[in-house]
Amino acid sequence: MDATPPARPDRTHLWVGAALFLATLVAAWFFVGFVADTGNRLERVRVQSLARTAAATLESARIANLRGSKTDIGTPGFDAVRDELRRVRDVNPDFRFVYLMRPPAGGKVMAFLADAESPESPDYSAPGDLYDGPSLELWQVYRSGQPQVQPPYRDRWGYWVTSIAPVRDATGRIVAILGMDVRADAWLATQARYRGFALAISGLVLVLVALFTLGLHLQKRSAARTSALNAQLAVKIGELEAAQEGLRLADVVVRHTGEGILLLDPELRVLSANPGFVRITGHAADAAIGRTPPLFEDDDVLQQVRTRLGSGTHWDGTLLARRADGDRFPLEASIDRVLDAQGQVQHFVMVFRDVTVQKQLEDRLRELSATDGLTLLANRRSFDEALERSWHQATRHGEPVSLIMIDIDHFKSYNDSYGHGAGDRCLQQVATAIAAGVRHEGALVARYGGEEFAVILPRGDANTAHEIAESLRRRIEALGIAHAGNPIGSRVTISVGISTRTPPQTDDYEDLMLSADQALYRAKEGGRNGVVSAG
Ligand code: GH3
Ligand code: MG
Ligand code: MG
Repeated sequence: MDATPPARPDRTHLWVGAALFLATLVAAWFFVGFVADTGNRLERVRVQSLARTAAATLESARIANLRGSKTDIGTPGFDAVRDELRRVRDVNPDFRFVYLMRPPAGGKVMAFLADAESPESPDYSAPGDLYDGPSLELWQVYRSGQPQVQPPYRDRWGYWVTSIAPVRDATGRIVAILGMDVRADAWLATQARYRGFALAISGLVLVLVALFTLGLHLQKRSAARTSALNAQLAVKIGELEAAQEGLRLADVVVRHTGEGILLLDPELRVLSANPGFVRITGHAADAAIGRTPPLFEDDDVLQQVRTRLGSGTHWDGTLLARRADGDRFPLEASIDRVLDAQGQVQHFVMVFRDVTVQKQLEDRLRELSATDGLTLLANRRSFDEALERSWHQATRHGEPVSLIMIDIDHFKSYNDSYGHGAGDRCLQQVATAIAAGVRHEGALVARYGGEEFAVILPRGDANTAHEIAESLRRRIEALGIAHAGNPIGSRVTISVGISTRTPPQTDDYEDLMLSADQALYRAKEGGRNGVVSAG
């Protein structure tokens, strides 16, 4: 499979999701702040309206008449104002200190006018008592007439807010400012409710963003897995298709090859046979199945094959097989084993072919290489081999070997007179006559050289050799081939030298050849057309 590195997974959506989450977080922070502020504002307006409403119910003329000093204590107007303040305080259990303040003439600090607390209370402020807290807000209310609320604060009784509102007379002039502490629990609860609501909404949106991102991620991941699986599947399908194509081609080859192919089990019994087997052997494929191949003529060969395959992986050889019609033919075969995943022999595959034509060609070639082209007699090489063979045989059996050497007389002048072509034809006639004239068993007639011939006579003694030589000489002469240049009868004649040796009379056949040659020489010397035997 292709070794390209796997593509890096695309994580863009995760970064987008994270950015969206952060943006939502910031938006949520602002949203929570805004909603909590809205709650605060509503509570502020509510608490402001409490002080404002209370201030509007007070008898402003009576308050305007107060002097704002200890001298007010005990006066009916002062008591009435205090009663009113107490009534305001008691109207609502969430109200605490309710008091009136006004700056003394020319004063820079607010001073108390009246207080709903009883004079015995440690929190009571008498008329004329200067306000010791931060009075900036009080001054702002006094000057602007805009009510104010101081944000919640905590003491040992709980959370409180201070609401301050102006008290106006009939002309709208501010005659005092009313301060009242209001329990801040409702305010804080509202604030908590609004914040809680905003937090819940924000949390929900954040969870939705996270879930959306996660969902997107899971979807992308499963899409990536699916596409990876698809890619793997495509590769596998490609491999399968290639394998299938390979099998199809292999099947085509097995079916159409000229060779026979047998699939064998480990016991060398045929499991299947291709059409080549049927074509070569003539046996039906079905009949061969379940048996050892009908190619081994005898069980010995089969046993040899088994032994070889048992110790090795391969066998090959040439054997003579028998076709269905009984004909014997040469077969070149090889057997290889096929192992399973555990390394055990699963099958053997036998491939074989009919080598009849090849054998015939080889025989023909061998024949040609041993034959002289012009005379079709054995050539010099065959002569050498045959002489060596005969000599060894003679050595083994203590038998004689005779060698006859023949040379055409005055052949040079024959060529000169009749031309080289005629010389060749003459050589062929002489060769045929010599071959026809030798009837000795195992004899070999060869063209030894140009116009020289040799006859090997295994087990041929001197008499036999001489008889044959003489008959050959007569036979050539009897051919009557005109040879004007030959002083002896103007026809083609031969001179013959013979030698007969019986090992170990001599060590080797060199002496046999040498003495035959010398005998031939003497025949020439003796006037030609004659036979001379070596001593
Ligand atoms: P002699 O043997 O009787 O002493 O005389 P010769 O003339 O035969 O002498 P030699 O053996 O020396 O000559 C051999 C001649 O044979 C020479 C050559 O022209 C001829 N010859 C050899 N081979 C061939 C061949 O293949 N074809 C033909 N036409 N002539 C050949
Ligand atoms: Mg010669
Ligand atoms: Mg000659």
